[in-house]
Amino acid sequence: MVVERSRRECVLCGTAFMGRSFLCPSCSARYRRQRPDRVLRRRFYEAVDRQYPGWANTYGSYNPPFGLLRVLDRLPRSLRILELGCGGGALLRDLAARGFIHLVGLDLAQTALAEARRRGTPARLVLAEAESLPFAAETFDLVIAADLIEHVDDLDAHLTEVARVLRSGGLYLVKTPNRPLAELYYRLAGLDDYPFWHPSMLSPRELRQLFARHGFTVRFVAQPRLTPAQLRKVPTRMLRFLAARLPIGNLPVLLRPHLEVVATRW
Ligand SMILES: [Zn+2]
Repeated sequence: MVVERSRRECVLCGTAFMGRSFLCPSCSARYRRQRPDRVLRRRFYEAVDRQYPGWANTYGSYNPPFGLLRVLDRLPRSLRILELGCGGGALLRDLAARGFIHLVGLDLAQTALAEARRRGTPARLVLAEAESLPFAAETFDLVIAADLIEHVDDLDAHLTEVARVLRSGGLYLVKTPNRPLAELYYRLAGLDDYPFWHPSMLSPRELRQLFARHGFTVRFVAQPRLTPAQLRKVPTRMLRFLAARLPIGNLPVLLRPHLEVVATRW
């Protein structure tokens, strides 16, 4: 989630300012000190969808989980799959095109589900929070969340819920920024409001430890190449040309811009 520098209005309070963030300097400062509540978060994501449709993952697919899709390609098409933070449904439609048939998508933003419906996404769509899943225990064989967990306020509550709705031996596939590198980038880019929209980023070690506490064994999978959203952050055309050809899959986990994870529930 990054936007070019421009004169714009704060998505929360409407104050005009010059910058690259979604929030004005005073809202940014306020929500570095205090965690926003869920109502405000929902309002924020719906406002981003309205004000920045070209950047919201609701209306496009800029960040596909290339490594996780390779894992999915090897799995039985009969799996019962839940996608958390499904946005406008791009990944669900991709999964359907790959032959998966039991698909449920969940998002907290009405704007996202409206777009998923408009695009005819072949999945059951559910409006809910990722910390409180409206499903019975062991409903799913696989849960997938691409660019979702970093937005979740309470990761312990979230993982307790994912472990509950997965069957024993089920998989949680996750794509999320690599915290130390992401923080460095956000600071350099002047995205002072990142604690608002990415309150729960993890380093590889933090991720492994947190998931272990909730009964998951973690395996990191390599992303074969940079995603369109990552390439968009590279400043010049020449550098973008080179970056698109980087053999990024060979980087050690610590140096990857984002983490792709296959977590198995014991
Ligand atoms: Zn503001």
